[in-house]
Formats: sequence, structure tokens, C-alpha cells
Amino acid sequence: MSLGKASVRDADVAASTVLVRVDFNVPLEDGRVADDMRIRAALPTLELLRERRAATILVSHLGRPEGTDSALSMRPVGERLAELTGAPVTQAPAVAGGEVDALAAELGEGDLMLLENSRFDPGETENDPDLARRLAAPVDLFVNDAFGASHRAHATTVGVAELLPSYAGLLLESEVEHLTAVAERPRRPLTVVLGGAKVSDKIGVIDRFLEIADEILIGGAMCFCFFRAQGIPTGDSLVEEEGVPEAERALHRAAAADCRLELPVDLVLGRDFNAATERRDAEGIEVSDGWMGLDVGPRTAEAYAKSVGAAGTVLWNGPMGAFELEPFAAGTRTLAEAVADAPGTTVVGGGDSVAALRQFGLDDRVDWLSTGGGASLELLEGKPLPGVEALQDA
Ligand code: ADP
Ligand code: MG
Repeated sequence: MSLGKASVRDADVAASTVLVRVDFNVPLEDGRVADDMRIRAALPTLELLRERRAATILVSHLGRPEGTDSALSMRPVGERLAELTGAPVTQAPAVAGGEVDALAAELGEGDLMLLENSRFDPGETENDPDLARRLAAPVDLFVNDAFGASHRAHATTVGVAELLPSYAGLLLESEVEHLTAVAERPRRPLTVVLGGAKVSDKIGVIDRFLEIADEILIGGAMCFCFFRAQGIPTGDSLVEEEGVPEAERALHRAAAADCRLELPVDLVLGRDFNAATERRDAEGIEVSDGWMGLDVGPRTAEAYAKSVGAAGTVLWNGPMGAFELEPFAAGTRTLAEAVADAPGTTVVGGGDSVAALRQFGLDDRVDWLSTGGGASLELLEGKPLPGVEALQDA
């Protein structure tokens, strides 16, 4: 397999205590988990460890707390995990330290404990060796199953991996396999659809896939950087200024590459970013002052959908418009339906694109839905992920 790292499948974990870095960075609403996709994605690794009679300690970050913040406690996550596994989950009062060590010593075969939010400790994001040592103290080995956090060199992803025998979890392996296969072994034609807010988030992916893909289809607010670079009026549309020169460079590279770079040919406009705003279909792509482009138009959406339907492999990242606002969701919906119906291999990454698919009830009709936003983009750019690099070689 492409990872080249030791797998949890091959780890001898019986009668051991295993620390598993998971990505339980989930949305909360009224003190409850609003979306448990990431928790469910970790269950295969947890089930494997339980079957093999390990005691399992889980650690994750949640949100961006500045120090301890009870609103970002892992407690609701532990409650949801207990519901999903049907097993009790011990909730640790801290990330590491004496109390945690004492609770860890009490764990029996197959038991589960969830540590507090790793970002409550300032050592997490600093990859502090002392925090890594305290995390490693009560455990025998480490498993990284937090694909969505593996692009960060933090104490729970890299520091602790360097101190213990360390293995890739099942989710991490699947994520890397599916995302790597798109770039390295695509069935052709390979169609890449990119949208969302910012060119700068995705320019690395555009760069790499101009060399690999057969076509790149651009939607979302990103397209306005390209239009600005071409001197086309963008009105009050969201334009990321620093993305404009990057878009210009991408247009130049595309002219020399063996890959088509497609931009929208029509738009849906609104006055403001809200669902009640005045809405207008634009025949073309010029936007006058007082209006903003909030979705791709129907001709664009149909053309993109047709390409997706003819592709051997589809990679989609980033919505086609402001899909959270119903009047501007049509372009993203048409694309999502095309991805769901596509006969080719379909891979979707990016928090908002995955959210859009789920909003339309189409999430179970794609071949791979990535749990990682930033991590999936970095992997697709061809960058090594620190949290994967730190694991022991196979
Ligand atoms: P992902 O999470 O899938 O990678 P991004 O975070 O890059 O996607 O972008 C998603 C956001 O982009 C959404 O909040 C959406 O409202 C916004 N967006 C897309 N198109 C437009 C547009 N034309 N104008 C303003 N915002 C847009
Ligand atoms: Mg996003």
C-alpha cells in the first residue's frame, strides 16, 4: 500500500494500553454533537482494538480554545461515542498528568477513555516535548487515526508518535489510499472540480493537477479571482485580492499545460450575502456594481455536470456557490447530483463540500468522502503530512 507506514492491523496490542489520536473536531450545538461523521469514521479502528483486547485512550482537539474553555470540553463527544459504541467511555478531566495516569491504570481489556481537548494544553500546538512525554507516560503504543489533523505537527500527532511504537489507524490509511490514488492512478479522464471561497487555499491543488488532470472546472467565489485577472468586472463579488495574481499565474500555466481550465460562463447574482436578497440570473459573467455573484448559472452547472458524468475519476473540493443560502444552492446541487450519479470513481474533500452533499442527502453515493479539509488539500498538493511521516515505517 502507498502509505509505507506500520498499520494498526499488524500491531500486537493485546493487554496493552494504546493511545489513539482521533479527529473528533466536530460541530457542537446546545452542548450536543451536531454531526458525528468524524466519530463514526474512527469506529473501525476502535472496534479492531477492542476485539484485540487493548485498553484504548483517545485524544483529539475540539475547536480553537484559548486555554481551558468548558464550552469546548470533550464531554459531549464522549457521550456520543458511548452511544455509538454501546460501551461506557471514561471521561478524563485533563489531557495528561497524574489524574489521567491513575485513570489509565484502572482501564481493563477493551475499555475506552477519552482525554480532554488537547488544545486546552498550550503544549499541543507548540509540539511541546514535555506534553508529548506526559501523553506517552501511561501508554504502550500510539495509533494515529486523525487524518484531518495530520497536516499539523502537534504534540498529539507528531511529538508522541516519536516517543512510542507508532502505527497508522484504519481511517488514516483509507484516506491516504483514496486521495493518493486520484493523483497517482486515476481512471481517465480525470476531472477536478474546485470551488469555495479562496484561490489561495486551493492554488497548490490547481498547480499540481494542471500537470495530472484532464480538466479543472472552477466555481465558487474563487472564479472571481480569475475574472479579475482577466480584467472582467466582478462588481461587489467576493474577491480574494491575494488570489488574483495566483489566478493569473494559473491561467498562464494552463495555457501551456495538457489540461483544460474551465471557468463559469454564467452566474446567479444577489445584492447581499443573505437568502432574502434580490436575486437575478446573469446571462454572462460580468457583474455590475451593486451586485455580487453568489452561484454559478445553470449553463455552467449543466456543462460541469456533463463533464463529471463523462469522467473516469472525479475529484471535487469546494461548493459552486453560497449553497447555505437556498436561492444560491442550485449550482452546487446540480454538481452534487452529477457527482452522486457519476459512473466514474468519485472523491470529495473539504468540509463545506461534504456538508453540501449531506444537505442534499447524497453523501452515501460517492466513493470516498474525506473527513479532512486542510489535510486532504495538502495531501492532494503532494505534500508529506507530518502526522504520517512521524509513524514508524512498515
Ligand atoms: P470547502 O470547505 O469545501 O473546502 P471552502 O471552505 O473553500 O469549501 O468554501 C466554502 C464557502 O465558500 C461557503 O461558505 C460558501 O458560502 C462560500 N462561497 C462559495 N461561493 C461563493 C460566492 N460566489 N460568494 C461568496 N461565498 C461563496
Ligand atoms: Mg470550508
